[in-house]
Amino acid sequence: MEELRISPIRNGTVIDHIPQGQSIDVLRILGIDESTRDTVSVAMNVPSEEMEKKDIVKVEGREIEEDEAAIIALIAPDVTVNMIRDYDVVEKYEVSMPDEIVGILDCPNPNCITNTDEPVETRFDVVVPSESESAELQCHYCETVVKGDVTDLLRGSGS
Ligand SMILES: [Zn+2]
Repeated sequence: MEELRISPIRNGTVIDHIPQGQSIDVLRILGIDESTRDTVSVAMNVPSEEMEKKDIVKVEGREIEEDEAAIIALIAPDVTVNMIRDYDVVEKYEVSMPDEIVGILDCPNPNCITNTDEPVETRFDVVVPSESESAELQCHYCETVVKGDVTDLLRGSGS
């Protein structure tokens, strides 16, 4: 049995098996920053049987949404999400790569219709070239392809 080094939470979400060092990206995906009022615990470099070292994020009082879990899957496909109610795990699932991502991410192409004044939500198709390669996102409108770190495209990240 692995031992969790941070205390249990009563209600909320535990995000486990985050690759070492990527808890920061997970926090960004969840929109957690200095203005967050939820109690958030982050454990980094926790010894893990399967991964050697891993990160864990616990958010009290909040159950993360499916679309947030889908974005996490893009950067960390082996993450496990545990929903906690009254100290019990009521739901546990592994994140899975979505087919498409609507909203949430901005298109990096300044000329894309989603970056004009038109009321068009961003929409990316997720392409997984092969098991070993990480996912690519392709803008549904301007066909711009995005690879690698998607956290810079999070809406409102300003970079
Ligand atoms: Zn676009």
